[in-house]
Amino acid sequence: MLKKVLIANRGEIAVRIARACRELGVRSVAIYAEADRYALHVKKADEAYSVGPDPLQGYLNPHQLVNLAVETGCDGLHPGYGFLSENPELAEICASRGVKFIGPAASVIQSMGDKTEARRSAERAGVPVTPGTDGNLTDVNDALAMAEKFGYPVMLKATSGGGGRGIRRCNDAKDLQQNYQRVISEATKAFGRADVFLEKCIVNPRHIEVQILADSFGNTVHLFERDCSIQRRNQKLIELAPSPQLNDEQRQYIGELAVKVAREVGYENAGTVEFLLDSDGSFYFMEMNTRVQVEHTITEEITGIDIVREQIRIASGLPLSVQQETITYTGFSAQFRINAEDPKNGFLPSFGRISRYYSPGGPGVRTDAAIYTGYTIPPHYDSMCAKLVVWARNWEELLDRSLRALEDMQIYGIHTTRDYYKQILKHPEFRSGNFNTGFVEAHPELTQYSTKRRPEFLAAAIAAAIAAQSGM
Ligand code: ADP
Ligand code: ADP
Ligand code: MG
Repeated sequence: MLKKVLIANRGEIAVRIARACRELGVRSVAIYAEADRYALHVKKADEAYSVGPDPLQGYLNPHQLVNLAVETGCDGLHPGYGFLSENPELAEICASRGVKFIGPAASVIQSMGDKTEARRSAERAGVPVTPGTDGNLTDVNDALAMAEKFGYPVMLKATSGGGGRGIRRCNDAKDLQQNYQRVISEATKAFGRADVFLEKCIVNPRHIEVQILADSFGNTVHLFERDCSIQRRNQKLIELAPSPQLNDEQRQYIGELAVKVAREVGYENAGTVEFLLDSDGSFYFMEMNTRVQVEHTITEEITGIDIVREQIRIASGLPLSVQQETITYTGFSAQFRINAEDPKNGFLPSFGRISRYYSPGGPGVRTDAAIYTGYTIPPHYDSMCAKLVVWARNWEELLDRSLRALEDMQIYGIHTTRDYYKQILKHPEFRSGNFNTGFVEAHPELTQYSTKRRPEFLAAAIAAAIAAQSGM
Protein backbone atom coordinates (compact mmCIF):
# COMPACT_ATOMS: atom_id res chain seq x y z
CA MET A 1 0.00 0.00 0.00
CA LEU A 2 1.13 3.56 -0.70
CA LYS A 3 2.39 5.25 2.48
CA LYS A 4 1.76 8.92 1.89
CA VAL A 5 -0.26 10.76 -0.75
CA LEU A 6 -0.05 14.34 -1.92
CA ILE A 7 -3.51 15.66 -2.77
CA ALA A 8 -2.98 17.97 -5.74
CA ASN A 9 -6.38 19.64 -5.42
CA ARG A 10 -8.62 21.69 -3.15
CA GLY A 11 -12.22 21.88 -1.96
CA GLU A 12 -14.57 18.99 -1.40
CA ILE A 13 -12.66 16.48 -3.54
CA ALA A 14 -9.47 17.10 -1.54
CA VAL A 15 -11.49 16.45 1.63
CA ARG A 16 -12.92 13.30 0.04
CA ILE A 17 -9.44 11.98 -0.82
CA ALA A 18 -8.10 12.78 2.66
CA ARG A 19 -10.98 10.74 4.13
CA ALA A 20 -10.16 7.70 1.98
CA CYS A 21 -6.48 7.99 2.95
CA ARG A 22 -7.41 8.11 6.62
CA GLU A 23 -9.46 4.93 6.38
CA LEU A 24 -6.62 3.14 4.59
CA GLY A 25 -3.98 4.30 7.07
CA VAL A 26 -2.26 6.31 4.34
CA ARG A 27 -0.87 9.73 5.36
CA SER A 28 -2.22 12.67 3.38
CA VAL A 29 -0.62 15.97 2.41
CA ALA A 30 -2.76 18.95 1.43
CA ILE A 31 -1.64 21.96 -0.57
CA TYR A 32 -3.13 25.44 -0.43
CA ALA A 33 -2.82 28.80 -2.10
CA GLU A 34 -2.98 31.73 0.31
CA ALA A 35 -6.64 32.27 -0.63
CA ASP A 36 -7.28 28.77 0.72
CA ARG A 37 -5.45 29.10 4.03
CA TYR A 38 -8.71 28.52 5.92
CA ALA A 39 -10.15 25.95 3.53
CA LEU A 40 -11.53 22.70 4.93
CA HIS A 41 -9.19 20.41 3.01
CA VAL A 42 -6.24 22.00 4.80
CA LYS A 43 -7.71 20.92 8.11
CA LYS A 44 -8.68 17.41 7.02
CA ALA A 45 -5.27 16.26 5.75
CA ASP A 46 -2.43 15.14 8.04
CA GLU A 47 -0.09 17.84 6.74
CA ALA A 48 -0.58 20.98 4.66
CA TYR A 49 1.84 23.16 2.70
CA SER A 50 1.43 26.54 1.07
CA VAL A 51 2.00 26.63 -2.68
CA GLY A 52 2.25 30.38 -2.89
CA PRO A 53 0.32 33.63 -2.95
CA ASP A 54 -1.33 33.27 -6.37
CA PRO A 55 -4.79 31.67 -6.05
CA LEU A 56 -4.29 29.39 -9.07
CA GLN A 57 -0.63 28.99 -10.06
CA GLY A 58 0.26 26.71 -7.15
CA TYR A 59 -2.45 24.21 -8.11
CA LEU A 60 -1.38 24.26 -11.74
CA ASN A 61 2.40 23.85 -11.66
CA PRO A 62 3.19 20.15 -12.16
CA HIS A 63 6.94 20.43 -11.48
CA GLN A 64 6.41 22.29 -8.23
CA LEU A 65 3.75 19.82 -7.08
CA VAL A 66 5.88 16.75 -7.74
CA ASN A 67 8.87 18.45 -6.07
CA LEU A 68 6.72 19.01 -3.02
CA ALA A 69 5.54 15.39 -3.09
CA VAL A 70 9.16 14.20 -3.16
CA GLU A 71 10.30 16.65 -0.46
CA THR A 72 7.49 15.64 1.89
CA GLY A 73 8.15 11.92 1.39
CA CYS A 74 5.02 11.10 -0.61
CA ASP A 75 5.02 7.95 -2.71
CA GLY A 76 1.68 8.77 -4.35
CA LEU A 77 -0.15 11.77 -5.81
CA HIS A 78 -3.91 12.06 -6.27
CA PRO A 79 -4.97 14.72 -8.80
CA GLY A 80 -8.73 14.81 -7.98
CA TYR A 81 -10.83 16.37 -10.78
CA GLY A 82 -10.36 19.64 -12.67
CA PHE A 83 -6.96 21.40 -12.33
CA LEU A 84 -4.18 19.03 -13.52
CA SER A 85 -6.21 15.81 -13.24
CA GLU A 86 -6.20 15.28 -17.01
CA ASN A 87 -2.78 16.73 -17.66
CA PRO A 88 -0.48 14.03 -19.05
CA GLU A 89 2.61 16.05 -18.08
CA LEU A 90 1.81 15.69 -14.39
CA ALA A 91 1.47 11.90 -14.74
CA GLU A 92 4.75 11.81 -16.67
CA ILE A 93 6.68 13.89 -14.13
CA CYS A 94 5.33 11.71 -11.34
CA ALA A 95 6.54 8.59 -13.15
CA SER A 96 10.01 10.08 -13.72
CA ARG A 97 10.35 11.07 -10.05
CA GLY A 98 9.15 7.78 -8.56
CA VAL A 99 5.84 9.13 -7.29
CA LYS A 100 2.85 6.95 -8.23
CA PHE A 101 0.23 8.98 -10.07
CA ILE A 102 -3.22 7.82 -8.92
CA GLY A 103 -4.78 7.54 -12.35
CA PRO A 104 -4.05 6.02 -15.75
CA ALA A 105 -0.77 6.23 -17.69
CA ALA A 106 0.21 9.60 -19.18
CA SER A 107 -0.21 8.21 -22.71
CA VAL A 108 -3.82 7.17 -21.94
CA ILE A 109 -4.65 10.59 -20.45
CA GLN A 110 -3.16 12.18 -23.54
CA SER A 111 -5.09 10.07 -26.03
CA MET A 112 -8.42 10.34 -24.19
CA GLY A 113 -7.96 14.06 -23.55
CA ASP A 114 -8.07 14.55 -27.30
CA LYS A 115 -11.73 14.00 -28.12
CA THR A 116 -11.12 13.08 -31.76
CA GLU A 117 -8.49 10.52 -30.77
CA ALA A 118 -10.86 9.16 -28.10
CA ARG A 119 -13.55 8.77 -30.73
CA ARG A 120 -11.15 6.77 -32.91
CA SER A 121 -10.29 4.50 -29.95
CA ALA A 122 -13.98 3.85 -29.31
CA GLU A 123 -14.48 3.03 -32.99
CA ARG A 124 -11.57 0.58 -32.88
CA ALA A 125 -13.25 -1.07 -29.90
CA GLY A 126 -16.39 -1.53 -31.99
CA VAL A 127 -18.37 0.98 -29.95
CA PRO A 128 -20.87 3.29 -31.73
CA VAL A 129 -19.68 6.89 -31.78
CA THR A 130 -21.70 10.10 -32.27
CA PRO A 131 -21.52 10.81 -36.02
CA GLY A 132 -18.83 13.44 -36.56
CA THR A 133 -15.58 14.43 -38.24
CA ASP A 134 -12.67 11.97 -38.24
CA GLY A 135 -10.29 14.60 -36.98
CA ASN A 136 -9.98 18.32 -36.44
CA LEU A 137 -11.48 20.87 -38.81
CA THR A 138 -9.03 22.69 -41.05
CA ASP A 139 -11.04 25.90 -41.52
CA VAL A 140 -14.53 27.32 -41.59
CA ASN A 141 -15.17 26.00 -45.12
CA ASP A 142 -14.26 22.51 -43.98
CA ALA A 143 -16.71 23.00 -41.09
CA LEU A 144 -19.49 24.09 -43.43
CA ALA A 145 -18.91 21.16 -45.77
CA MET A 146 -18.91 18.67 -42.90
CA ALA A 147 -22.07 20.17 -41.41
CA GLU A 148 -23.81 19.70 -44.76
CA LYS A 149 -22.74 16.09 -44.70
CA PHE A 150 -24.08 15.34 -41.19
CA GLY A 151 -27.04 17.70 -41.37
CA TYR A 152 -27.93 20.51 -38.98
CA PRO A 153 -28.04 21.01 -36.07
CA VAL A 154 -24.37 20.25 -35.35
CA MET A 155 -22.17 20.63 -32.29
CA LEU A 156 -18.92 22.51 -32.69
CA LYS A 157 -16.56 21.26 -29.99
CA ALA A 158 -13.09 22.03 -28.69
CA THR A 159 -10.98 18.90 -29.18
CA SER A 160 -9.37 19.24 -25.75
CA GLY A 161 -12.42 20.73 -24.03
CA GLY A 162 -13.86 19.89 -20.65
CA GLY A 163 -16.14 21.16 -17.91
CA GLY A 164 -18.87 21.92 -20.47
CA ARG A 165 -16.81 24.71 -22.07
CA GLY A 166 -15.89 25.07 -25.73
CA ILE A 167 -19.14 23.56 -27.04
CA ARG A 168 -21.62 25.38 -29.29
CA ARG A 169 -24.74 24.13 -30.98
CA CYS A 170 -25.12 25.48 -34.51
CA ASN A 171 -28.55 25.31 -36.08
CA ASP A 172 -27.60 26.46 -39.58
CA ALA A 173 -24.70 27.62 -41.75
CA LYS A 174 -24.91 31.19 -40.47
CA ASP A 175 -24.75 29.96 -36.88
CA LEU A 176 -21.72 27.85 -37.69
CA GLN A 177 -19.95 30.72 -39.44
CA GLN A 178 -20.55 32.96 -36.44
CA ASN A 179 -19.50 30.40 -33.86
CA TYR A 180 -16.45 28.99 -35.59
CA GLN A 181 -13.97 31.68 -34.52
CA ARG A 182 -15.68 32.02 -31.14
CA VAL A 183 -15.16 28.38 -30.18
CA ILE A 184 -11.55 28.51 -31.38
CA SER A 185 -10.75 31.49 -29.20
CA GLU A 186 -12.63 29.96 -26.27
CA ALA A 187 -10.65 26.74 -26.69
CA THR A 188 -7.35 28.58 -26.99
CA LYS A 189 -8.04 30.61 -23.88
CA ALA A 190 -9.38 27.78 -21.72
CA PHE A 191 -7.36 24.78 -22.92
CA GLY A 192 -4.35 26.25 -24.71
CA ARG A 193 -5.27 24.50 -27.94
CA ALA A 194 -7.18 25.86 -30.93
CA ASP A 195 -8.32 22.52 -32.39
CA VAL A 196 -12.03 22.05 -32.98
CA PHE A 197 -14.14 19.30 -34.50
CA LEU A 198 -17.75 18.79 -35.34
CA GLU A 199 -20.38 16.28 -34.25
CA LYS A 200 -23.95 15.75 -35.26
CA CYS A 201 -26.15 17.26 -32.58
CA ILE A 202 -28.25 14.60 -30.95
CA VAL A 203 -31.40 16.57 -30.24
CA ASN A 204 -32.57 16.37 -26.62
CA PRO A 205 -30.49 13.32 -25.69
CA ARG A 206 -30.00 11.71 -22.30
CA HIS A 207 -26.47 11.94 -20.90
CA ILE A 208 -25.66 8.45 -19.67
CA GLU A 209 -22.19 7.60 -18.36
CA VAL A 210 -20.62 4.46 -17.00
CA GLN A 211 -18.16 4.26 -14.11
CA ILE A 212 -15.36 1.80 -14.69
CA LEU A 213 -12.50 0.47 -12.57
CA ALA A 214 -9.43 -1.32 -13.91
CA ASP A 215 -6.45 -2.72 -12.03
CA SER A 216 -2.92 -3.51 -13.19
CA PHE A 217 -3.73 -7.22 -13.53
CA GLY A 218 -6.07 -6.71 -16.48
CA ASN A 219 -9.30 -6.78 -14.48
CA THR A 220 -11.75 -4.21 -15.85
CA VAL A 221 -15.24 -3.83 -14.41
CA HIS A 222 -18.12 -1.37 -14.66
CA LEU A 223 -20.16 -0.04 -11.75
CA PHE A 224 -23.33 0.63 -13.73
CA GLU A 225 -24.44 3.98 -15.07
CA ARG A 226 -25.31 7.50 -14.03
CA ASP A 227 -27.86 9.78 -15.64
CA CYS A 228 -26.52 13.33 -15.85
CA SER A 229 -29.18 14.78 -18.13
CA ILE A 230 -30.08 17.61 -15.77
CA GLN A 231 -27.56 20.15 -17.05
CA ARG A 232 -27.31 23.86 -17.57
CA ARG A 233 -25.07 25.03 -20.41
CA ASN A 234 -23.63 21.53 -20.79
CA GLN A 235 -22.67 21.44 -17.10
CA LYS A 236 -24.18 18.88 -14.79
CA LEU A 237 -26.42 20.01 -11.93
CA ILE A 238 -28.19 16.88 -10.70
CA GLU A 239 -26.98 13.33 -11.27
CA LEU A 240 -28.79 10.04 -10.71
CA ALA A 241 -27.73 6.43 -10.35
CA PRO A 242 -28.94 4.24 -11.80
CA SER A 243 -30.67 6.05 -14.66
CA PRO A 244 -34.46 5.90 -14.25
CA GLN A 245 -34.59 5.85 -18.05
CA LEU A 246 -32.84 2.52 -18.80
CA ASN A 247 -34.05 -1.04 -18.64
CA ASP A 248 -31.84 -3.92 -17.53
CA GLU A 249 -30.97 -4.91 -21.07
CA GLN A 250 -29.77 -1.38 -21.94
CA ARG A 251 -27.93 -1.24 -18.62
CA GLN A 252 -25.97 -4.37 -19.36
CA TYR A 253 -25.31 -3.33 -22.95
CA ILE A 254 -23.89 0.07 -22.06
CA GLY A 255 -21.80 -1.35 -19.20
CA GLU A 256 -20.18 -3.74 -21.64
CA LEU A 257 -19.54 -0.95 -24.15
CA ALA A 258 -17.71 1.07 -21.48
CA VAL A 259 -15.53 -1.89 -20.53
CA LYS A 260 -14.66 -2.41 -24.22
CA VAL A 261 -13.47 1.21 -24.53
CA ALA A 262 -11.39 0.92 -21.35
CA ARG A 263 -9.79 -2.34 -22.48
CA GLU A 264 -9.04 -0.94 -25.92
CA VAL A 265 -6.81 1.79 -24.48
CA GLY A 266 -5.26 -0.31 -21.71
CA TYR A 267 -6.97 1.73 -19.05
CA GLU A 268 -5.89 1.51 -15.42
CA ASN A 269 -7.57 3.08 -12.34
CA ALA A 270 -11.03 4.73 -12.18
CA GLY A 271 -12.58 6.33 -15.25
CA THR A 272 -15.87 7.25 -16.84
CA VAL A 273 -17.13 6.60 -20.32
CA GLU A 274 -19.78 9.11 -21.39
CA PHE A 275 -22.55 8.33 -23.88
CA LEU A 276 -25.50 10.11 -25.40
CA LEU A 277 -28.78 8.21 -25.59
CA ASP A 278 -30.91 9.26 -28.55
CA SER A 279 -34.70 9.29 -28.42
CA ASP A 280 -34.75 6.24 -30.70
CA GLY A 281 -32.81 4.24 -28.10
CA SER A 282 -29.36 4.41 -29.77
CA PHE A 283 -26.28 4.93 -27.61
CA TYR A 284 -23.31 6.92 -28.89
CA PHE A 285 -19.89 7.19 -27.28
CA MET A 286 -19.15 10.85 -26.46
CA GLU A 287 -15.92 11.00 -24.45
CA MET A 288 -13.96 9.40 -21.63
CA ASN A 289 -12.94 11.20 -18.44
CA THR A 290 -9.69 9.78 -17.11
CA ARG A 291 -10.14 10.75 -13.47
CA VAL A 292 -12.49 10.52 -10.52
CA GLN A 293 -15.69 12.38 -11.33
CA VAL A 294 -17.65 14.88 -9.29
CA GLU A 295 -20.60 12.48 -9.28
CA HIS A 296 -18.71 9.30 -8.31
CA THR A 297 -20.59 9.54 -5.00
CA ILE A 298 -23.93 8.26 -6.30
CA THR A 299 -22.30 5.15 -7.73
CA GLU A 300 -20.76 4.57 -4.31
CA GLU A 301 -24.20 4.89 -2.74
CA ILE A 302 -25.88 2.27 -4.93
CA THR A 303 -22.98 -0.21 -5.08
CA GLY A 304 -21.40 0.28 -1.66
CA ILE A 305 -17.97 0.48 -3.31
CA ASP A 306 -15.62 3.26 -2.18
CA ILE A 307 -14.22 4.43 -5.52
CA VAL A 308 -11.40 6.58 -4.10
CA ARG A 309 -10.29 3.68 -1.91
CA GLU A 310 -10.19 1.46 -5.00
CA GLN A 311 -8.17 4.13 -6.82
CA ILE A 312 -5.54 4.14 -4.10
CA ARG A 313 -5.48 0.34 -3.93
CA ILE A 314 -5.06 0.06 -7.71
CA ALA A 315 -2.22 2.60 -7.66
CA SER A 316 -0.62 0.57 -4.85
CA GLY A 317 -0.47 -2.42 -7.21
CA LEU A 318 -3.30 -4.32 -5.50
CA PRO A 319 -6.03 -6.12 -7.42
CA LEU A 320 -9.61 -4.81 -7.50
CA SER A 321 -11.45 -5.75 -4.34
CA VAL A 322 -14.53 -6.61 -6.45
CA GLN A 323 -15.36 -8.76 -9.46
CA GLN A 324 -17.99 -7.99 -12.09
CA GLU A 325 -20.18 -10.92 -11.04
CA THR A 326 -20.32 -9.74 -7.44
CA ILE A 327 -21.04 -6.06 -8.12
CA THR A 328 -24.70 -5.27 -7.55
CA TYR A 329 -26.69 -2.13 -6.97
CA THR A 330 -29.53 -1.30 -4.63
CA GLY A 331 -32.04 1.55 -4.76
CA PHE A 332 -31.53 4.97 -6.30
CA SER A 333 -29.17 7.82 -5.52
CA ALA A 334 -29.16 11.50 -6.48
CA GLN A 335 -26.44 14.12 -6.20
CA PHE A 336 -27.25 17.83 -6.07
CA ARG A 337 -24.36 20.14 -6.87
CA ILE A 338 -24.81 22.98 -4.38
CA ASN A 339 -23.25 25.89 -6.24
CA ALA A 340 -22.63 29.32 -4.76
CA GLU A 341 -24.76 30.95 -7.45
CA ASP A 342 -28.03 32.84 -7.61
CA PRO A 343 -30.43 31.00 -9.96
CA LYS A 344 -32.88 33.91 -9.73
CA ASN A 345 -30.21 36.18 -11.12
CA GLY A 346 -28.92 34.25 -14.11
CA PHE A 347 -26.89 31.92 -11.87
CA LEU A 348 -24.56 34.77 -11.00
CA PRO A 349 -21.72 33.56 -8.72
CA SER A 350 -22.39 34.39 -5.08
CA PHE A 351 -19.14 34.19 -3.19
CA GLY A 352 -18.62 35.48 0.33
CA ARG A 353 -18.91 34.54 3.97
CA ILE A 354 -21.14 31.71 5.08
CA SER A 355 -22.67 33.15 8.22
CA ARG A 356 -24.27 29.84 9.20
CA TYR A 357 -24.24 26.34 7.81
CA TYR A 358 -26.33 23.44 9.01
CA SER A 359 -25.39 20.17 7.38
CA PRO A 360 -28.39 17.92 6.65
CA GLY A 361 -28.64 14.45 8.15
CA GLY A 362 -30.97 11.55 8.65
CA PRO A 363 -31.20 8.26 6.82
CA GLY A 364 -29.74 8.04 3.33
CA VAL A 365 -28.15 11.50 3.39
CA ARG A 366 -24.48 12.29 2.71
CA THR A 367 -22.78 15.63 2.26
CA ASP A 368 -19.39 16.01 0.63
CA ALA A 369 -18.73 19.66 1.30
CA ALA A 370 -15.93 22.16 1.62
CA ILE A 371 -17.82 24.70 3.74
CA TYR A 372 -18.43 25.45 7.40
CA THR A 373 -19.98 28.25 9.42
CA GLY A 374 -17.75 31.31 9.16
CA TYR A 375 -15.95 30.15 6.01
CA THR A 376 -15.53 32.71 3.24
CA ILE A 377 -15.81 31.22 -0.23
CA PRO A 378 -12.98 32.75 -2.28
CA PRO A 379 -13.94 34.14 -5.70
CA HIS A 380 -11.12 32.47 -7.63
CA TYR A 381 -12.48 28.95 -7.96
CA ASP A 382 -15.36 26.84 -9.15
CA SER A 383 -18.69 27.80 -7.57
CA MET A 384 -19.55 24.29 -6.39
CA CYS A 385 -19.22 24.38 -2.61
CA ALA A 386 -21.04 21.23 -1.52
CA LYS A 387 -22.59 18.07 -2.86
CA LEU A 388 -25.74 16.72 -1.31
CA VAL A 389 -25.99 13.01 -1.97
CA VAL A 390 -29.19 11.11 -1.19
CA TRP A 391 -29.91 7.40 -1.31
CA ALA A 392 -33.29 5.65 -1.08
CA ARG A 393 -34.75 2.24 -1.87
CA ASN A 394 -36.81 3.38 -4.82
CA TRP A 395 -37.52 6.38 -7.03
CA GLU A 396 -40.53 7.67 -5.06
CA GLU A 397 -38.65 7.49 -1.77
CA LEU A 398 -35.69 9.23 -3.41
CA LEU A 399 -37.86 12.18 -4.48
CA ASP A 400 -39.35 12.54 -0.97
CA ARG A 401 -36.05 12.18 0.80
CA SER A 402 -34.22 14.56 -1.55
CA LEU A 403 -36.76 17.32 -0.93
CA ARG A 404 -36.50 16.77 2.79
CA ALA A 405 -32.70 16.75 2.71
CA LEU A 406 -32.51 19.93 0.64
CA GLU A 407 -34.77 21.66 3.17
CA ASP A 408 -32.67 20.22 5.95
CA MET A 409 -29.53 21.81 4.48
CA GLN A 410 -29.30 25.45 5.55
CA ILE A 411 -26.72 27.82 4.14
CA TYR A 412 -26.90 31.48 5.17
CA GLY A 413 -24.89 34.42 3.84
CA ILE A 414 -24.65 33.41 0.19
CA HIS A 415 -27.06 32.39 -2.56
CA THR A 416 -27.01 28.76 -3.62
CA THR A 417 -28.77 26.49 -6.09
CA ARG A 418 -30.55 24.64 -3.25
CA ASP A 419 -34.01 26.19 -3.67
CA TYR A 420 -33.85 25.82 -7.43
CA TYR A 421 -33.33 22.06 -7.04
CA LYS A 422 -36.45 21.89 -4.88
CA GLN A 423 -38.42 23.31 -7.82
CA ILE A 424 -36.96 20.71 -10.17
CA LEU A 425 -37.83 17.95 -7.70
CA LYS A 426 -41.46 19.09 -7.65
CA HIS A 427 -41.77 19.20 -11.43
CA PRO A 428 -43.93 16.42 -12.92
CA GLU A 429 -41.54 15.82 -15.82
CA PHE A 430 -38.62 15.24 -13.49
CA ARG A 431 -40.76 13.16 -11.15
CA SER A 432 -41.83 10.96 -14.06
CA GLY A 433 -38.17 10.02 -14.49
CA ASN A 434 -38.42 10.86 -18.17
CA PHE A 435 -36.33 13.93 -19.09
CA ASN A 436 -33.44 14.94 -21.33
CA THR A 437 -30.58 17.46 -21.45
CA GLY A 438 -33.04 20.13 -22.61
CA PHE A 439 -34.95 20.11 -19.30
CA VAL A 440 -33.33 23.15 -17.64
CA GLU A 441 -33.57 25.35 -20.72
CA ALA A 442 -37.16 24.29 -21.34
CA HIS A 443 -38.22 25.35 -17.83
CA PRO A 444 -36.90 28.85 -17.12
CA GLU A 445 -39.94 29.40 -14.87
CA LEU A 446 -38.38 27.14 -12.25
CA THR A 447 -35.94 29.89 -11.31
CA GLN A 448 -38.84 32.16 -10.32
CA TYR A 449 -39.45 30.74 -6.86
CA SER A 450 -40.10 32.67 -3.70
CA THR A 451 -37.23 32.84 -1.21
CA LYS A 452 -39.33 33.59 1.84
CA ARG A 453 -37.93 31.77 4.81
CA ARG A 454 -40.03 30.26 7.55
CA PRO A 455 -40.55 32.97 10.22
CA GLU A 456 -38.42 31.31 12.90
CA PHE A 457 -35.48 31.01 10.47
CA LEU A 458 -35.93 34.62 9.49
CA ALA A 459 -35.86 35.67 13.15
CA ALA A 460 -32.67 33.67 13.69
CA ALA A 461 -31.09 35.19 10.58
CA ILE A 462 -31.98 38.73 11.68
CA ALA A 463 -30.63 38.07 15.16
CA ALA A 464 -27.41 36.70 13.64
CA ALA A 465 -27.09 39.73 11.36
CA ILE A 466 -27.58 42.14 14.28
CA ALA A 467 -25.06 40.22 16.34
CA ALA A 468 -22.53 40.34 13.47
CA GLN A 469 -23.12 44.09 12.98
CA SER A 470 -22.62 44.93 16.62
CA GLY A 471 -19.59 42.65 16.87
CA MET A 472 -21.21 40.46 19.51
P1 ADP B 1 -17.52 15.65 -14.07
O1 ADP B 1 -17.54 15.13 -15.48
O2 ADP B 1 -16.67 14.93 -13.11
O3 ADP B 1 -18.87 15.93 -13.59
P2 ADP B 1 -17.02 18.33 -14.81
O4 ADP B 1 -17.00 18.21 -16.29
O5 ADP B 1 -18.15 18.98 -14.14
O6 ADP B 1 -16.73 16.94 -14.19
O7 ADP B 1 -15.67 18.99 -14.35
C1 ADP B 1 -15.26 18.94 -13.00
C2 ADP B 1 -14.43 20.13 -12.71
O8 ADP B 1 -13.28 20.13 -13.50
C3 ADP B 1 -15.13 21.44 -13.00
O9 ADP B 1 -14.69 22.35 -12.04
C4 ADP B 1 -14.65 21.80 -14.39
O10 ADP B 1 -14.70 23.20 -14.56
C5 ADP B 1 -13.23 21.27 -14.33
N1 ADP B 1 -12.74 20.77 -15.61
C6 ADP B 1 -13.12 19.66 -16.23
N2 ADP B 1 -12.43 19.47 -17.36
C7 ADP B 1 -11.56 20.49 -17.45
C8 ADP B 1 -10.54 20.86 -18.39
N3 ADP B 1 -10.27 20.13 -19.47
N4 ADP B 1 -9.86 21.98 -18.16
C9 ADP B 1 -10.12 22.72 -17.07
N5 ADP B 1 -11.05 22.41 -16.14
C10 ADP B 1 -11.76 21.33 -16.33
P1 ADP C 1 -17.14 18.06 -21.59
O1 ADP C 1 -15.79 17.52 -21.88
O2 ADP C 1 -17.16 19.52 -21.44
O3 ADP C 1 -17.82 17.30 -20.50
P2 ADP C 1 -18.81 16.61 -23.46
O4 ADP C 1 -18.32 16.22 -24.81
O5 ADP C 1 -18.88 15.55 -22.43
O6 ADP C 1 -17.95 17.82 -22.94
O7 ADP C 1 -20.26 17.29 -23.60
C1 ADP C 1 -20.85 17.94 -22.52
C2 ADP C 1 -22.37 17.99 -22.72
O8 ADP C 1 -22.69 18.66 -23.94
C3 ADP C 1 -23.04 16.65 -22.83
O9 ADP C 1 -23.34 16.09 -21.58
C4 ADP C 1 -24.28 16.97 -23.63
O10 ADP C 1 -25.30 17.51 -22.82
C5 ADP C 1 -23.80 18.05 -24.57
N1 ADP C 1 -23.36 17.46 -25.86
C6 ADP C 1 -22.09 17.20 -26.23
N2 ADP C 1 -22.03 16.68 -27.47
C7 ADP C 1 -23.30 16.62 -27.91
C8 ADP C 1 -23.92 16.18 -29.14
N3 ADP C 1 -23.20 15.71 -30.16
N4 ADP C 1 -25.26 16.26 -29.24
C9 ADP C 1 -26.00 16.75 -28.22
N5 ADP C 1 -25.50 17.16 -27.06
C10 ADP C 1 -24.16 17.11 -26.89
MG1 MG D 1 -18.22 15.28 -20.55
